[in-house]
Amino acid sequence: MLKGKCAVITGSTSGIGLGIAEGFAKEGLNLVINGFGDAAEIETIRAGLEHKHGVKVIYDGADMSKPDQIEAMMKNAASVFGGVDILVNNAGIQNVAPVEEFPTAKWDAIIAINLSSAFHTTRCAVPYMKSKKWGRIINVASAHALVASPFKSAYVASKHGILGFTKTIALELAEFGTTVNCICPGYVLTPLVEKQIPDTAKARGITEEEVIKNVLLAAQPTKRFVTTEELAGTALFLCSDSAASITGTSIAVEGGWTAH
Ligand code: NAD
Repeated sequence: MLKGKCAVITGSTSGIGLGIAEGFAKEGLNLVINGFGDAAEIETIRAGLEHKHGVKVIYDGADMSKPDQIEAMMKNAASVFGGVDILVNNAGIQNVAPVEEFPTAKWDAIIAINLSSAFHTTRCAVPYMKSKKWGRIINVASAHALVASPFKSAYVASKHGILGFTKTIALELAEFGTTVNCICPGYVLTPLVEKQIPDTAKARGITEEEVIKNVLLAAQPTKRFVTTEELAGTALFLCSDSAASITGTSIAVEGGWTAH
């Protein structure tokens, strides 16, 4: 059912986005991958997905903080694949600091990349989904779309924001065979999390080991990191026919964190 469809996955050169790209390619989806990184490494990823799974994969290096680049990426995807069937808004960044010390440029970048980019990709993808009367939009939010943590004001604001955006677009597309949902992961050990461990240690005055045990995994009753494979499986479920009536909501994949 998904074979031959096209998915655009933002921020898919690393971490969760890359895990979703691998899961999608395995099911025969053609892909647009996006994100930053070393050009040779990205080409290895792109070609590897194509050869391993026999799908077509193009890379677009659009910066998700730049609306004109986002628009060009979406147009490029549609011209290569004849439309955009599935959109996964996944690109995201984090910064950990008390609000009075929070760098204003970081606030702006987090809101642009984690939230506004989804508006820009969505507004470009919707005409194709409406015309085909089928589409899936999956926003990789966070447990921080549902609950807050201190020192992450911009991130928590962006993730709560994307949940509201998700509900709105779900209502707009409900009669067009197109669902719009959030996946809310708990902690996944990706570069995004690895980078915030030293800053959290500094902000809380504790060691990095204590951050992993007493801050990150303390929130997760399962006491282990969520895996990218688990998130790819959730995304594939949301793309399936079985999930056709699931829209405007969020699926928490966070080891029980928000059940507290
Ligand atoms: P990651 O750092 O491994 O990957 C982020 C991806 O986004 C990379 O491909 C990076 O190049 C790309 N990116 C960053 N800025 C970009 C920009 N301006 N334009 C284009 N691409 C850009 O992080 P991750 O942990 O895989 O995070 C992916 C998403 O999952 C984010 O939205 C994040 O908030 C969310 N999330 C992560 C966790 C976690 O524990 N890792 C938990 C909940 C939610």
